[in-house]
Amino acid sequence: MTGSADVAVIGGGAAGVMAAIQAARRGRRTVLLEKNRQPGLKILISGGGRCNLTTTRQGKDLEAQYGPRRGRFLRHALRAFPPRDLCAFFESAGVRLREEDLEKIFPVSQQAREIVDALLRLAREAGVALHTGTPVHGVARDGDGFAVTTANGALRAQRVVLATGGLSYPKTGATGDGYAWCRALGHTVTATFPALAPLASDEAWLRELQGIVLQDSEIACLDGDGRATLRRRRPILFTHKGLSGPAPMDLAGDVEELAGRALVRLDFTPDRSADELDREWLEAARLHGQRRVESVLPRGLQQRVRDALLQRAGIAAETTLAGWTKEQRRALLRAVKDLRVAVPKSLGFGHAEVTRGGVVLDEIDARTMQSKTCPGLYIVGELLDVDGPIGGFNFQAAFATGRLAGLDA
Ligand SMILES: Cc1cc2nc3c(=O)[nH]c(=O)nc-3n(C[C@H](O)[C@H](O)[C@H](O)COP(=O)(O)OP(=O)(O)OC[C@H]3O[C@@H](n4cnc5c(N)ncnc54)[C@H](O)[C@@H]3O)c2cc1C
Repeated sequence: MTGSADVAVIGGGAAGVMAAIQAARRGRRTVLLEKNRQPGLKILISGGGRCNLTTTRQGKDLEAQYGPRRGRFLRHALRAFPPRDLCAFFESAGVRLREEDLEKIFPVSQQAREIVDALLRLAREAGVALHTGTPVHGVARDGDGFAVTTANGALRAQRVVLATGGLSYPKTGATGDGYAWCRALGHTVTATFPALAPLASDEAWLRELQGIVLQDSEIACLDGDGRATLRRRRPILFTHKGLSGPAPMDLAGDVEELAGRALVRLDFTPDRSADELDREWLEAARLHGQRRVESVLPRGLQQRVRDALLQRAGIAAETTLAGWTKEQRRALLRAVKDLRVAVPKSLGFGHAEVTRGGVVLDEIDARTMQSKTCPGLYIVGELLDVDGPIGGFNFQAAFATGRLAGLDA
């Protein structure tokens, strides 16, 4: 492959394909370079193969999901292309979508393949020249354009859109290649951390609960001073390695950034305060002293969890309400409302759905995704220092930023 293009988009994931479609629709001669034989591998495996495309959340609430700094940067992209427009984009390409639990949008077919097929069809119709099996080796400034070197030859492009993703799930092609090019072209790249990954813990009692799912407990990540950096009230799964499921995975980025100083706090009765529980338990002890302590634990909790909580509080199973000490009551209150688990890290990039960190946002024009340090260069998707929680927020950000670049490049 040798030649020239108006726009070279590097990376055929959500952000890159969207950027290429938009640029080609404007009549720009657009080349899309993807190292894998198939574009969109991450889309194919997303949402358990079903692709949680986006969310029903909108406006400020949507922006807030990315945190204040990242949300502020994404505001333009998300307002210009909110979830309902992303849905309309795919629906007009024949993909029927529907809302499921937790405000998530999925294809009715439950097939992520439908999303990839629609994107590729739209890219073809727009006239994008797609080169798969074409790893890019380098991007360098060349006069007022760029020289792009690939395994299959070189290309000169007036504008370049970098959409090579982050470091998570490297099997899908995301091996962080774009970071070095961004640095060489004058950008700062922050430290990177696995995010949206299961949490690892060596605590044996936790592993004994493997297989159990808590539906309505709260989990929080605490920093070294015991302050909550993030709380989540979504399903929590105990595994043989620690904690997984939507809520623990949402905490992974914070846990990793805290580099071994993080604690995770579990609250098994998020709707009732410790004071309320304490009053209830005292009343139960007054009225039903012959009952076992276990009887005051929240009803919906599985037996193995009940046993573990009593054990954590140092209370023998046969202890009655009349027989427990004030210290034991307090210890059980702590176990139920404020159970702290040392969680030094997540399971890492191999298991992380996204990468936290990336190209510093201040260096990018949030209205166009054009680099402020290297005119003609656009940086989009997960390569940027942008990540969101589980729930379709990461595709939403990738498509919305990719679209802005394609409209400007
Ligand atoms: C298991 C899993 C499940 C997920 N589920 C969801 C979900 O349901 N909903 C959601 O919103 N998000 C989900 N995500 C996150 C989402 O997939 C990413 O946020 C999104 O794909 C990022 O898009 P991107 O285009 O920026 O990067 P990517 O999708 O990573 O695309 C980057 C592309 O660049 C290519 N590339 C890299 N280097 C080169 C090179 N040197 N030359 C040429 N090409 C290159 C890669 O091969 C890849 O195709 C999930 C992620 C994983 C791993």
